[in-house]
Amino acid sequence: MIKDKEYKAFNLRNFRKIPQFSSLPEELKTNIEVTGSILPFKANNYVIDELIDWSKVPDDPIYTMVFPRRKLLSEEHYNIMSELIRKNANRAELKELANKIRYDLNPHPAGQHHNVPKLRGKILPGIQHKYENTVLIFPMQGQTCHAYCTFCFRWPQFVGLKGEKFAMKKADILIDYLRIHPEVDNVLITGGDPMILGINTISFYLETLINAKLPNLKAIRIGTKSLAFWPYKYVTDRGAKDILNLFRKVDKAGIHLAFMAHFNHPRELSTPIVREAINRIKETGAQIRSQGPLLKHINDDAKIWEEMWTTQVNLGIIPYYMFVVRDTGAKKFFSVPLLRTHEIFHRAYRNVSGLARTVRGPSMSADPGKIEILGSSRINGEKVIILTMIQGRNKEWVGKPFFAKYNPTATWINELEPAFGVKKFFYERELNSIYAKQ
Ligand SMILES: *Cc1c(COP(=O)(O)O)cnc(C)c1O
Ligand code: SF4
Repeated sequence: MIKDKEYKAFNLRNFRKIPQFSSLPEELKTNIEVTGSILPFKANNYVIDELIDWSKVPDDPIYTMVFPRRKLLSEEHYNIMSELIRKNANRAELKELANKIRYDLNPHPAGQHHNVPKLRGKILPGIQHKYENTVLIFPMQGQTCHAYCTFCFRWPQFVGLKGEKFAMKKADILIDYLRIHPEVDNVLITGGDPMILGINTISFYLETLINAKLPNLKAIRIGTKSLAFWPYKYVTDRGAKDILNLFRKVDKAGIHLAFMAHFNHPRELSTPIVREAINRIKETGAQIRSQGPLLKHINDDAKIWEEMWTTQVNLGIIPYYMFVVRDTGAKKFFSVPLLRTHEIFHRAYRNVSGLARTVRGPSMSADPGKIEILGSSRINGEKVIILTMIQGRNKEWVGKPFFAKYNPTATWINELEPAFGVKKFFYERELNSIYAKQ
């Protein structure tokens, strides 16, 4: 029998009250205080009681995923923050230094600010339209999560950096936009985590989309880590039944509900409550697909991915994307060279059945599109990395193979150069002219 659980969040103010912390070394707690004053930090009682293996802390992958540590920052950043805290600086001083360091950490990765669409000359905040068929929606109230991932690329919005929020307040302009963009056949509701929203807000967005009866809208996707961070949402929480009924309503309206679940480790799929939540979501007619980045210290091991994809298929989840960790925040701690990421992907991919080979990647969500690493080879005596695009700003780019000079240490596309003496990758000129028009 599954017992209900009342959600309890832990952050900088109260994490020392977490019972499991009483036996941990003081240094670890100081590290959390210093790093957590710059990067966002939030944990909850499900992650703490049911996911983390406390006998393995601080190396435990789920602990690493949620609790800040010293190594997420450079020595220099860590030391100046630590010094200021030790001097008992006031809140304003701490905040000023924290924001200064945050801006040093590349809070604007992958040209996100280039993708804000316009309607009749007015820019639409909270909507992003990068690829023809899909519009992303960032609901105003969904700008937070049930816990924060230490590797998150959306972290600036959680710490309240100015100008970092793409939040949507009203859905009516979204509907107007979709009506004049019939090429959009699916919308992706994202955040933060939209499933942190109360039932009224979730139903407002979903019902607005259903009631608009957009002839071309075939699917609504919800991008969420709630299955990994708070599966009680779908089982015992107040509103659980209403959410499931709402999913059923989407399905009955003839719109596919694609539940895009963020998973990073097989342990997130192992608890009785997550299994129950998965079953209940599937029963509504929604389909769960999985995606997540490959991260050093958390899941940089082919066995982990093999187990994760196999378990997902067994539970009726479709493996969808493996991502390359983005170039932001604490990237250095989590980053794995592109070719190493590719090797891990393929070691796992080879060992799973075709049912799990629906997964694609490893994929970088970069300015021109989703760039997939296909591996390395030698062509006419030159060692190269072969790439292609799974998604592109221009759909003509999709599926076209292209070549970079062999580079075993590069961790992102901007560290690669075209092979064969070519000056620019094939898409670069056109991408610049797309930007110039915006
Ligand atoms: C990944 C992504 C999509 C959806 O791409 P699919 O390949 O259809 O899953 C849409 N917009 C953005 C900005 C994305 O990164
Ligand atoms: S759940 Fe997603 S949006 Fe939230 S902190 Fe983790 S990666 Fe970021």
